[in-house]
Amino acid sequence: HATKKTMADHLRKYESLFTLTPQRMRIIAEAFKETLELGLTKPGQVVPMIPTFVFGWPSGKETGDFLALDLGGTNLRVCLVTLQGSGQFEITQSKYRLSEEQKNGDGQKLFDFCAECLKTFVETNIGSDDEGPIKDGHHLPLGFTFSYPCSQERIDHGELIRWTKGINVANTEGHDVAAMFATSLAKYQLPIKLTALINDTTGTLIASHYVNPRTKIAVIFGTGCNAAYMEHIKDIEKIKHLGIDPKAEMAINCEWGAFDSFEHEHLPRTKYDTIVDESSNKPGEQAFEKLISGRYLGEILRLVICELIDEGVLFLGQNTYKLENPYCFDTAFLSLMESDPTDELLMIIGIFTHFFALETTLAERQFFRALAKLIGRRAARLSACGIAAIVGKMGYLDEGCSVGADGSLYNKYPGFADRVHEGLFDIFGEKGRNIITHHAEDGSGVGSAIIAAMTKIRK
Ligand code: ADP
Repeated sequence: HATKKTMADHLRKYESLFTLTPQRMRIIAEAFKETLELGLTKPGQVVPMIPTFVFGWPSGKETGDFLALDLGGTNLRVCLVTLQGSGQFEITQSKYRLSEEQKNGDGQKLFDFCAECLKTFVETNIGSDDEGPIKDGHHLPLGFTFSYPCSQERIDHGELIRWTKGINVANTEGHDVAAMFATSLAKYQLPIKLTALINDTTGTLIASHYVNPRTKIAVIFGTGCNAAYMEHIKDIEKIKHLGIDPKAEMAINCEWGAFDSFEHEHLPRTKYDTIVDESSNKPGEQAFEKLISGRYLGEILRLVICELIDEGVLFLGQNTYKLENPYCFDTAFLSLMESDPTDELLMIIGIFTHFFALETTLAERQFFRALAKLIGRRAARLSACGIAAIVGKMGYLDEGCSVGADGSLYNKYPGFADRVHEGLFDIFGEKGRNIITHHAEDGSGVGSAIIAAMTKIRK
């Protein structure tokens, strides 16, 4: 009879499915660059390259008190930022968790919730005495970080193109979210004025440059994945009609998570990626993001494990129902598995027994860890392709630049940054070492405040 395959034999199959060669990466980076360029020529492209109406870099001299509100895919965060000039700031903040109901309910209700949290925050942290930042009749300027693709005509306006990151709230797509938010602010009678509607990626770009002027690109690796950079107005073909000084610059929110959506001709997708896509609430969309971001990596790994359960390879005789729940395997588990320092892989024992009531053998645990590594490494190397596309487009390679990066995946996944750097080296060779990612400054808090301040100065 045929000899039984070992876990190491199984691993080889997944290695070939999830590994990206340098040559393949260069092809992806090139196609990515062409896609970015296309997005600048006309509206409605797959990667929309959204003009942000954030003009140029901050001077570092911005000062004053600003509120910042960040509606992420998981949490709502409210901050009070005091910019002190010369790159200094102070920040006070609170976080509020979004319920599944809020993430799948009605748009105006979601903004009402934002206003309600702001009210609580202002009451506990600011008060309304004459000493505080809210003086009689004054409105506190607010930067609203709304990190979903919007088309903007001005900095305090934004029509939602579509929800991403698993949020699917009704009556919002196609609407001006700044106006909806203003309605909620009025309803709660808050002395606050929305000054700038920004994307977290743009905020990250501006905040990181404020502190480290070598920063030219920002990338977010959180629930979603996205990038922003500073573009020459003369190269943004699709806003030529606005007659903005061609010598000026404007930040572009790439919304690069959409790369390769619908046609799926550039990215190497496995059948697990196809399942993730087809069973998501937005099939076809955000194709690049679905291979990279925190929302999906755990699910990809879970699907591989489920396949091996179906094939009778894993957990024979055990009840696997807990693992059969879509999205039950958090990407944080991949981080934990990769960072397990013990020979016995005790952390992995813990994850499987505590969360899924499953017993594992050492060979299985080694397999899970190796699988996490394959999936995490692929995500990092694909991200490198995107960074390489911007670097190539803007000609940053010789001079080198810093890439401000943020999000739990970047901050907490062991070795993620190293793998991005290794990817840049594989694409560009030695010069790739000139491109270095660093932990970004807080874009949705500080960045948002700086942009609100830049906007105030411009007006
Ligand atoms: P958001 O993008 O929603 O503002 P985060 O940057 O914290 O917030 O990203 C949340 C995503 O990061 C979730 O999808 C979660 O699964 C993932 N995540 C959380 N902790 C970790 C971790 N330790 N390692 C890797 N991914 C993580």
